[in-house]
Amino acid sequence: MNLIDGKKISLKIQENIAEEVKKITSSGKKPPHLAAVLVGNDGGSETYVAAKIKACGRVGFNSTLIRHPEYVTEEKLLQTIADLNNNSDIDGFIVQLPLPRHINEHKIIEAVLPSKDVDGFHPINVGRMVLNLPCYVSATPYGIVQLLEHYKIETSGKHCVVVGRSHIVGSPMSILMAKNTTLGNCTVTLCHSKTTNLSDYTRSADILICALGSPEFIKADMIKQGAVVVDVGTTRVESTESKNGFKLKGDVMFNEVSQKCSFITPVPGGVGPMTIASLLKNTLLAAKKEIYP
Ligand code: NAP
Repeated sequence: MNLIDGKKISLKIQENIAEEVKKITSSGKKPPHLAAVLVGNDGGSETYVAAKIKACGRVGFNSTLIRHPEYVTEEKLLQTIADLNNNSDIDGFIVQLPLPRHINEHKIIEAVLPSKDVDGFHPINVGRMVLNLPCYVSATPYGIVQLLEHYKIETSGKHCVVVGRSHIVGSPMSILMAKNTTLGNCTVTLCHSKTTNLSDYTRSADILICALGSPEFIKADMIKQGAVVVDVGTTRVESTESKNGFKLKGDVMFNEVSQKCSFITPVPGGVGPMTIASLLKNTLLAAKKEIYP
């Protein structure tokens, strides 16, 4: 079994981005600027946003964190987004999901200017991705594609099974893997909670991408010998082993699945760091105005 080291590759990508930032600033231009909007105090969201802000510092980006309390109104949040859209110093921004129930997530996502939507969630970016047009590709699927590319994992003609059909991970992932591009050309099956006999599909996967958010759901008897397994899941579970009282668990039972597969991403240290690297890449593209001149 080969461990797919997302952390290492993410740091390499960040080094390359830092080099580009140096070139930008030494030519007299301002560094790229990413803003993050965080609503409430959810522990997971706090951690993810802190990691994104820290990564900005590592590559030389400016960053701004805008916090709102859990009870913020939709109107107020929309105003924040309008301000960020109109602020020419901000190249791109994200609104950390999930949002509280009283806020319409779709309305928020659609309010972000597509040219600043570095998470790649806006319908314009999703549509452009489907049509193979220049766009910001959703950070997690984009990160996974880069991992497969780095490890030279053959995708053409392979059966890729994606478990989970969310708008931010599973669905865009399935589209990318089926594309007529060097990294694609898979025959894709997209599974979800209504899929019957899930194991029949997962066992036939050459590449299995798990994004369900159900800790250790995928067991060794659900995969084919030699499969490539990508574990997107990150569920915080209570743990007495760590100082903060929790640890992250993936969707895959790592100990047993790793005995049977050819490649696997660990949790943490697999897909998560690549999501951050992709977000930084998208922000650099936004600063260079390469997608939306
Ligand atoms: P989500 O919106 O909750 O979607 C979960 C998907 O899994 C849904 O499509 C659901 O089916 C499907 N599902 C749930 N239980 C299932 C089962 N027993 N069998 C088959 N399908 C099942 O989650 P998400 O936002 O895509 O995130 C998934 C996981 O990835 C979470 O753990 C999240 O924290 C993690 N994540 C990690 C990163 C990263 O950077 N590492 C980024 C994003 C998300 P239905 O559609 O039928 O409900």
